[in-house]
This record gives sequence, C-alpha cells and structure tokens, in this order.
Amino acid sequence: MSVASVALKIEKKQTSCTYCGVGCGLDIEIHNDVPVALTGAKTHPANQGRICVKGTNLLDTVGAKGRMLSPTIDQVEVSWPTATAHVANRFSEILKQHGKDSVALYLSGQLLTEDYYVANKFMKGYIGSANIDTNSRLCMSSAVTGYKRAFGEDVVPCNYEDLEHADVIFIIGSNAAWTHPVLFQRMQAAKQANPALKFVAIDPRETATTKLADIHLPISPGSDAGFYNGLLQYLVEQQVIDKDYITQSTKGFEQAIIQAQPWSIDKVSDFCGIDKVLIEQAFRLFAFNENVISFYSMGINQSNSGADKCNAIINCHLATGKLAKLGTGPFSITGQPNAMGGREVGGLSNQLCAHLDIDDTSHQQLLQSFWQSPTMVTEAGTSATEIIEHIEQGKIKAIWIMATNPLVSLPDRSRVSAALKKCELVVVSDCVDKNDTLEFAHVKLPATTWLEKDGTVTNSERVISRQRGMIKAPGQAKHDWKIICDIAKKMGFKGFDFEHAYQVFNEYCQLSGVANATERLFNISVLAPSDKQQYDTMKPTQWPIKSDRPFYDGKFSTADKKAHFIAITPALPVLINNKTNKGVGQGNGNIYFPFVLNSGRIRDQWHTMTRTSAATQLNEHISAPKLAINPADAKKLGIKDDNWVKVESISGEVFLEADISEDIQPGHCFMPIHWNKQFASNANTSSVFPTVIDPVSKQPQLKQVSVRLEKLTLNLSTKIVLHDQYVERINPDKLGLYRKTLHQHCHSYQMAEILDDSNVETVFDEKLLTYKQMLGEDIQWLSFLSVGTGIGRFVGTIEGKLAIIIECSDLTKHSLQSETNTRWLEYLFAETSLSQADKIAIVKAKPGDEFLLGKQICSCFNVHEKTIEQAILDGEDSLDKLAKSIKCGSGCGSCKPDLSEMIHACSVRERTEIASSIHDKNNIELQDIITMEAC
Ligand code: SF4
Repeated sequence: MSVASVALKIEKKQTSCTYCGVGCGLDIEIHNDVPVALTGAKTHPANQGRICVKGTNLLDTVGAKGRMLSPTIDQVEVSWPTATAHVANRFSEILKQHGKDSVALYLSGQLLTEDYYVANKFMKGYIGSANIDTNSRLCMSSAVTGYKRAFGEDVVPCNYEDLEHADVIFIIGSNAAWTHPVLFQRMQAAKQANPALKFVAIDPRETATTKLADIHLPISPGSDAGFYNGLLQYLVEQQVIDKDYITQSTKGFEQAIIQAQPWSIDKVSDFCGIDKVLIEQAFRLFAFNENVISFYSMGINQSNSGADKCNAIINCHLATGKLAKLGTGPFSITGQPNAMGGREVGGLSNQLCAHLDIDDTSHQQLLQSFWQSPTMVTEAGTSATEIIEHIEQGKIKAIWIMATNPLVSLPDRSRVSAALKKCELVVVSDCVDKNDTLEFAHVKLPATTWLEKDGTVTNSERVISRQRGMIKAPGQAKHDWKIICDIAKKMGFKGFDFEHAYQVFNEYCQLSGVANATERLFNISVLAPSDKQQYDTMKPTQWPIKSDRPFYDGKFSTADKKAHFIAITPALPVLINNKTNKGVGQGNGNIYFPFVLNSGRIRDQWHTMTRTSAATQLNEHISAPKLAINPADAKKLGIKDDNWVKVESISGEVFLEADISEDIQPGHCFMPIHWNKQFASNANTSSVFPTVIDPVSKQPQLKQVSVRLEKLTLNLSTKIVLHDQYVERINPDKLGLYRKTLHQHCHSYQMAEILDDSNVETVFDEKLLTYKQMLGEDIQWLSFLSVGTGIGRFVGTIEGKLAIIIECSDLTKHSLQSETNTRWLEYLFAETSLSQADKIAIVKAKPGDEFLLGKQICSCFNVHEKTIEQAILDGEDSLDKLAKSIKCGSGCGSCKPDLSEMIHACSVRERTEIASSIHDKNNIELQDIITMEAC
C-alpha cells in the first residue's frame, strides 16, 4: 500500500439537494475533507438513486469563488461583533422610535428549517410583529390556502409513490419534465411499467411535458378553475360522485355544485379556449378511473385566483373520494427545497409555528407559553408585496432579507428598487458577494450555504431529510440561525442560547408535540434529537410519523373533522392591457398591450442563476433569455429568430432575443424567469409583472401579464469573449444592451446596438478603440475585417495567451447573430499559448471539426446535436438505442422530447440531407478576407 493511499481519508455522507421541492437525497464522497463525487442516494425515498442534471452538477458550485466572505457596513469590511452590534442597535432604535411593525424580515425557501424556526421565534415571539414573510409566498401560498380551507391544515395528502399507482395523472400548470425532473422520471417509469397509465397535460404552452402527454389541453392562460368547475359538474351528471364519502367526510358540497352547475362542456370550451372533444376525453379519464392524481404547480398557484384554482381541483377529488388512498389525490408540488419546511415552521406572515393559527388566541397563548417569550403576535402581518408597500408608505423602516433576491423575484422591479432605496436600513444575509438585491444593502452578512449548513428540509411529500455540513465555510460565513441568535441576544432577548442546529431542531420538534397532540397531523416530537449524534444519523422521515397517510380515515383537521368544499367562481387573470385605462379589458388608451406573456423556468437553471450559472455545463442547453413567440405573430411584427425585441408592459420593459416557436399559441409569448442584472442588461421578468395579487392567498400573479412587442432596429452586434482572469476589466454598465454567459475559463457577452455611421470599417475601428481603452494597454491585438460580409474580428493576447476575442457584425448584412461554440472557446481559453493555427482559426471563426457538434441536447452526459444525428444515421433510431450507444436521455430524461423529435425528423430523405449538410459545413470557407494583421 502506498503512502498516499494510507494518508487519504475517504468518507461518504448523505445530504439532500438544494434546488427543487422533490428533495432528492445525494451521496457525497469526500476525500481528505474535499467533496469529490456526487450520486443520487439509492436509499433516499424521494429519488431512489435518480438525479437530474442540476443535482448532478452541484459540486461545481461549491467553493469560495463569488462568495461573500466578511460582514460589511456601508461597503466597509467589519468584524462580526461590530456587524452584530450594529444591526441589533439599529433594530432596537427603530423599534423604540416607530413600534413593532416598523421592521420586517423577508426569508427564503432555501433556508433550512432551523433558520426559519429561529427567525420566526425572533419576530413573532420577541419583536411581536408578523411582518415576516418568505419567498414561498411567490410560489406556494395559494396551495397552502387551498389545503387549509379544504382540510383545516396545510397538509399535502399525497406521496410520490402514488404517481406509480395512478391510472391517470393530470399535470396542471407544470412543466415537470424540466422543473421536477426526478418526479417526471418516476412518472415515465410508471408508464413504462403500466402502458395503460394516461397523462393529461393542461398548459397553454407546448412543453417537454405536454409533448409526452396522451392528451394536451392548451388552455387559455389562467382559466383552470373553469375546467375544474366543469369537471365537478360532469362528475355529478355522470353520477360518479361518492355519495357516502361526501356525506360522512365532507361539508359544503351543495354550495360547490350550485356554483359549478352552469359549467357545461360548452361553457368550459368557451372559457378555456379548448376543443370540446378533448375536454370530454379528459373528463372521462377523471370520472371513470379509480386512481387519479392532479399534479399541480406554479401555473395554478401564481395567479390572482390561485387559491380558488387549488380548491376547484380539490373539490373534484373530494366529490369522488379520490384522495387519501394509494394512487390518488390533489398533489401540489413545491418549487423550493424547503418551501414545505417553511410552511411547517410558520414562515408566512399569516401563520404561527407548527401549523398553529395566528388569529386563534389559544394558539397565541400556547406558543408564547412554550417560548416563554415577552410578547406574541395577535394578527397576520404583511405579506411579501405588502412589505414593499409598507416601506413605500414609510411604515416599515428596516428590512432584513435572508437568502433571497427579491429585486429579481418579486413583481414590479422598479417599485421594489425604489422602496429598498428609500428604506432606512436594509440588511442582507447571503452566501454570494453579488446579486441584484445586495446592491441596496447597507449591511451585508456572509452566510453559509449547501454542504456547509447543517439542518433539515421537508420535501413535497412531507419527508424531512438532513442537509449535512461537510466542508468548512470560506471566510467568516456563519449559519443563518446563528446570525439571528447572535443579533437577538445582543438585543437582550432570552431564548436564543442555541449552540448547535440539533438544539434548535429539538425545541421545534417538542413544540410540534405540545401544539398538535391530537388536533392536527403535524407532530414530529418523536424526531427530537437528544444529541448531535442522533441528529447526524437521522434518516429521512415522513410525517405523519406514527399513523397511515394523511386523512386515510376520512377525518380532517377542521373543527368538524370534515373536509370542506369551497364554492368556486372561476376568474380569469387580471390583464392590464392599456396604459391609460388601468382596468380589465381592452380600453381605449394610447398604448395597447395585445400579447399575453407567460413566464417559467428552463431545464438547466435555477431561480436567479447565482448557483447554477457557476456550473458552466448548465449554461449550454439554453444560454440566452429568449422570448418565445408564435411564427404568425413574428411574421406580422417582422421579427426573425434572434432579433432583439422590446417587451413592454404597464410596469416596465425588458429586451430579449426572439425564439420563434410553434410551441407558443398566437397572441401569447413566453420568457424565462432566471436572467437578472448579473447576466443581462435588462431581461428580468420582475420588470414587466405589475403587482397583482390573489386577495385570499396574497400570492402574486406571475404567470400572465399583457405586453406589447416591438422589434428593435439594430445594426451592430458585438460579441466579447474574455478570459476569466480579465473579467473585472469589463464594465457591464458601459455595454448597453447585453447578455452574459459563463463558460469554463471565459465569459461571453453578446451585445447589440444602433450606430449612425454607415461605414462599417469606421464603426469597427471605433469599437476596437473603445474596447482597447476599456480593457487595458497590455493586450496585443490581431484583427480581421471582412467588409463584404460585414464582420470584424479582433483577437487580443497577453503574453501569448488568449485574453479576448471581439467579433462585430453588421446586422444589416447578418440577420443571425453568431452562436458561441462553447467547446471551442473553452479549449482556446484553456491553452497556455496560442498556436498560429489557432489564431487563424479564431479570426476566421472556423473551429476544427471536433468542435462542430451543434447545440448541447443532453446535459447529463454532455451529448450534442451532431453526435446524436450521426448516431441516428448509424441506425440508433429509438430512445433506448440512443441511450445504450451514446447515453443521451439516460440521465434525467428531460431531453427525451428533443431526442424523439430528432428521431422523427431523420426520415430517410432527411438523413441524406443531414449527411450532406454535415459535409458542406465542414467545407465552408470564409470569403472576402481583406486584412489580417497585427494592429
Ligand atoms: Fe435536485 Fe430537484 Fe433535480 Fe432532485 S429533481 S436532483 S431535488 S433539482
């Protein structure tokens, strides 16, 4: 045995993924305290070894790069004692002067339950205010309201295994193939095992999920409650309701059915804009199959009537008794890793801890007595958007934002930024050193993150798992719960003497037992760890812990123990489509917003990209924030693929490149939610969504907004690719319209502008001069200018090593902007010195054949378009064959719709064309080379 192998300490620890609400378990292999490998945990009930591409690449996001390393006050580095004392003193002063509701906390579904618990104890039991909300307000509060109204308690009545026992799964307002890939894999596996299983997808867009559904209902945006009211009426007409269940276990059926009665299939068809035949097919599947699941997500929740939509769905399950049994139920899927933990711990401004009610005096007293706290809230506080309103009105003077980026995620960006600018004290705890919200922080507090933090999370099926700390935090980063405790103690509060996360969890578990001995299901007191070791060895555990699945006995958590139907009047989204008439309807003002913009996630990015963009592999599948638009609309507006488009709404505007797609219905368009100022000049959805909220759940409508589209007439496109080492030399504020992509070793900026000078040569020279000044004198330049094709390319080296590539294109000659060949760039910028052949290849923009692989299709195994086309040509013409030969599609499976389309497209005739186009592409020579010289 070698000396090296004796010295190597190898450990394996399990933690859970930090992205979506599926809550996959991950096994981490650690060598000498360095995490080196990650796999899906076979022993974790959520994923049973499966994993998606985001989870697969998590280790690439770990480390000190881009981290906030020390506390700062007004941009000046300070010690922790100074920062803690400063926040404590400022909070105390403001509270003394303006009262308990003059401060607010804004939390995150990324926090661990222990962080959430301490923050809520601090605000609700010690400051005595419920001005504490969480970004789960933006994704889950409608689902919470729906369950609470129906069952008396916020309890998801389904388990993931139900997906494997269903006859029919309705997937509503969810592109699960991209957003919850491991659950989608479980559904696909279930279908493979049982081909009779049917998927019905309800979504205005065609997506990776709808493409694999048996029935796709391309519903009018936001009209879901009409569909479910119609279904309830159909169930009654078909006499398939469960009368015994309705009588014994529910209340309010009569009222609900009175409201649903007018909803004939004809009416549903009009309201939802879908074909009657399709509606009836879908209704029949629900009505005449025993095991039906309604799987829903943001398309339902993020609405001005999200809570009603949730209850419209739940009503149909109650009417047929299709819930609380294997393979059935209304299944809301959470977006964030610990949105559910936040719900359990009372993270929203209208909740108390452990499912206690904020407006119930006995619950308030119980909690105050358990906490032995000096005060207790007596009513709901401000929700996320209301916090902003109260800052505007001067009622809230100080806000502490933890682990979230409200400037990017809340609606009405300009309003949020004005409010934060006005706020007397903005404290932000985060793990990153830069994001859009941090720009407004007076005090910045460095927090720990995934693999450093120790605590628990709860996933969408109520499984509580450990997130385990395995590596040392960089700099002075501290756990969020510890930061709160230190500040609370400094403010003189008792009850925050926790030394370890297990003690916080212990107290929380005990509280759940005291609060919910019999009345409610959330009782996790048996999990209370007596010491660190017990906490460290805790296994994933689902609650209710000692009983069968929730509500299996037909008894609910309401006072009368019955589930409640909620009578629903379906509503359409509030679409403000006229700038002078701010009401619903077309209006007669000057500016009309005729399109409906939908927003959503893409496959390989997460929220505001702070983490996923660091795993550069994830930036390849979709590298730009494009506006998807139907071909007919694009034609009318003269928009072609990759043209820059201004998208304007009542609240603001964004600028994106166009992606013309049949997946979008005429009159609609779509943009992703992820891009923000760190990655693009102006492509943040929050700029165009005004504040419209569901009055019941207070959840903002973030799925539909009226917009107008305008093609930008630009004549110059510039791309800059810069080595990581020199990235600080770029000042994005001076770039105008741009978007940025991170690659391995380099960053690329794509810009577009309008220049008056029609002389291409002069324009290119001026551009080079500008960038020379911005980037420094130490760069050696090589230039290429092709007047005929309107392309200027400039290559800069420092000490023989590639530092920068600039490419300018005259857009009057090039309708398309050049695609970045990521693999080639990563190769070039990794080289220690450039060969002459490389330099010539760069100025000619001619990568070697080995780099001409086209777009990345399968991110899990990094398989590109051309490799797949070649494999299909070679006879691997099924998903199974492709998976076996080149592995694509065998990971998370999200690329399967793309692969199926490629297989379909490769008919015998097309195979011949592809083969010859591959040959032609390899023989392209750039013409009109005018100059190639050192400059
Ligand atoms: Fe993580 Fe969700 Fe992917 Fe699972 S499905 S690995 S929890 S992002």
